[in-house]
Amino acid sequence: MLLATWWLSQVTGEGVLITFFGQNLRQNEGKRVTLLSVLPHNGDKMQNDKQEALFHNMNRIGKLYFKYGTMGSAKTAMLLTQAYNFEERGMQYLCMKPIIDDREKDNVIRSRIGIERKCSWIYPDSDLHEMLKEMFDRTQVVKDWILIDEAQFLSPTQIDQLARIVDDYGVNIVCYGLRTDFQSHLFEGSRRLMELADTIEEIKSTCSCGRKTIINARIDSQGNIVTDGNQVEIGGDDKYVSLCRRCWRNRRIESTNRNAIKFNDE
Ligand SMILES: [Zn+2]
Repeated sequence: MLLATWWLSQVTGEGVLITFFGQNLRQNEGKRVTLLSVLPHNGDKMQNDKQEALFHNMNRIGKLYFKYGTMGSAKTAMLLTQAYNFEERGMQYLCMKPIIDDREKDNVIRSRIGIERKCSWIYPDSDLHEMLKEMFDRTQVVKDWILIDEAQFLSPTQIDQLARIVDDYGVNIVCYGLRTDFQSHLFEGSRRLMELADTIEEIKSTCSCGRKTIINARIDSQGNIVTDGNQVEIGGDDKYVSLCRRCWRNRRIESTNRNAIKFNDE
C-alpha cells in the first residue's frame, strides 16, 4: 500500500488526491491498484488535463470476461452471488441486461433461487461505450465491476463497445450468457465475446445421463425437439432443456420417429 502510494505520487505529482479502494487491493493481492477517483486540489487547466488523462488511463488493468454455460447452469445465480460479494466489500458495481421482451416491466435480474438485483436495461441500439462513459463522467466514479446477464443477446458492436470501456477505464466486465442457440450455432454476441474476451470460462452442468450439457434444445408442448424457427422466440410456448450432444441426437431421432408414426396413422 505504501509502495503503491509512493509510486502513484510519482506518476501524478503533487496536488492530486487519490482515493483508494482498500478492499480491491486486498482482493487482488496487491497485484493491481484500483482508483475510485482522482480529484485535483485546484482547478487549473493542467490539473484538469492531468485528471482527465488519469481518469481514462489510470493504470487499472481491467478484463473482459465471458462466462458461458447452457440453460439452467446457474449463470444468473452466480452473477447475483458476485454482486452480493461486491456489496459486502463496498465495491462499486453495476448490473446490466439486454431487454428482449418489451413487456418486461421490472428492471431486475432475478434468479430461480429467489434473489434479485436492480439492473440497467441495454436496448438493441444502446451505445454502451457512450452510456457508461457518460455515467462515469457524471458521477465521477468509475465502476470497478460491471456484471451483464444474457450477454448472448448483445450485438457484436456492443461487445466492441464494452471492450473499449475495459481498455479505457480499466473496468472489469463480466458477461454471462449462452454460447449457442437451439440449433447449436453461436449467438452473434457470444461469437464476438469468444473473439475479444481476456478470459473465457465455462460454467458446467450435467445432462440427465451424466455427461456435460452442450446444447440448449428447444422443445414443443409435446416434448418434441424443435429444429426450425427464429433464434429468439418471444412469448411462445416453447421451452428449453439443456442436453449433452448425444442425448440431443437421440431425442431428435425419437421426435422424428414419433412424428413419422403419427403421419402413417393418419
Ligand atoms: Zn445426455
